[in-house]
Amino acid sequence: MNIKGLYLEELAKQLALLGEPAYRAEQLLQWVYVKQAESFEQMSNLSAALRAKLAEEFTLNAVSEVTTRHATDTTEKFLFQLNDGSLIETVLIPATPGLTSTDDRQTVCVSTQVGCAFGCKFCASGLDGFKRNLSAAEIVDQVWQTQKLTKEKVNNIVVMGMGEPFANYENVLRALRILNAPWAFGIGARKMTVSTVGIVTGIRRLAEEPMQIRLAVSLHGATDDVRGKIMPINRKFPMNELVAACEYYAATKGKMLTFEYILIKDVNDMIEQAHKLAAMARRVHAKVNLIPHNPVEGLGWQRPDRDRCKVFQHVLRQAAISATLRIDKGADIAAACGQLRLQCERAT
Ligand code: SAH
Repeated sequence: MNIKGLYLEELAKQLALLGEPAYRAEQLLQWVYVKQAESFEQMSNLSAALRAKLAEEFTLNAVSEVTTRHATDTTEKFLFQLNDGSLIETVLIPATPGLTSTDDRQTVCVSTQVGCAFGCKFCASGLDGFKRNLSAAEIVDQVWQTQKLTKEKVNNIVVMGMGEPFANYENVLRALRILNAPWAFGIGARKMTVSTVGIVTGIRRLAEEPMQIRLAVSLHGATDDVRGKIMPINRKFPMNELVAACEYYAATKGKMLTFEYILIKDVNDMIEQAHKLAAMARRVHAKVNLIPHNPVEGLGWQRPDRDRCKVFQHVLRQAAISATLRIDKGADIAAACGQLRLQCERAT
């Protein structure tokens, strides 16, 4: 049992079975999340006997650093190893300090699965197939290790790393509750965004959660024809079902969601798609995040030139849709999903 995958009350229950008093759980979690202890050995105000017992019953670390890459724009990418040897990626995206910006976000992008089963044609994460779901502890520990390694206080979470969060719903939600808990990270639910490939059942389920977690939907096409060519999930959940689920989310939560739209040259960057996307965004009251495609070696897709991206954005703005064109960070460190892991695995 890994401590970082447990709620306070679950840990208290486990400790009670070991004959420990109720306050022990809080004491222990303080060592983990406030003092950032890396071993039970370091927990100096616990007796040696208890420390030994804890080390027998529980584990503390779920991920460990293999390599770190620093991009010139301050994005840092970590390759972490799990206890079974699997590799996953985590990215720290610091806010870009600018004269006009008061943004102090320190964002961590976490992975939720080893590999991915959804096979989007432009994405590196699924190229070697799907291996397994991450446990809640493995998700939480990505944030914990990032804080420890960088000495930054993380205050924003995006679930946009490797894997599909709604295909690992229980563990992802458990991890987000732990990241949200005052005894752990205390990160507000509004500072958490889950990004989905478009699992309609997951979107509806998230809408029912009491936590005000933000939702991003990877659209990448505005018609079944275009989306279906690049995202196999569109066969199972076609656009009309997807948009209906988004409408349900927006109405239930009373909140805006985000459509992510990667711009891929001559695949989905046609002006006609921009008009259809605008209509869809209006229908569900969504913002649009345009992301020039990050080319993946061997996949052969390209990003449109800057002007083309600007025109696409302009069409959305003319239709009064809030649309940002992302300056992609970390391109020089292979920060696109799954690229670093792939480079490392293929190099070995
Ligand atoms: N499975 C989830 C979350 C992980 S992917 C999802 O599909 O949303 C996070 C985002 O990165 C998605 O929008 C995905 O489509 C996008 N992405 C994947 N490969 C990319 C690439 N090569 N360039 C730009 N964005 C990419």
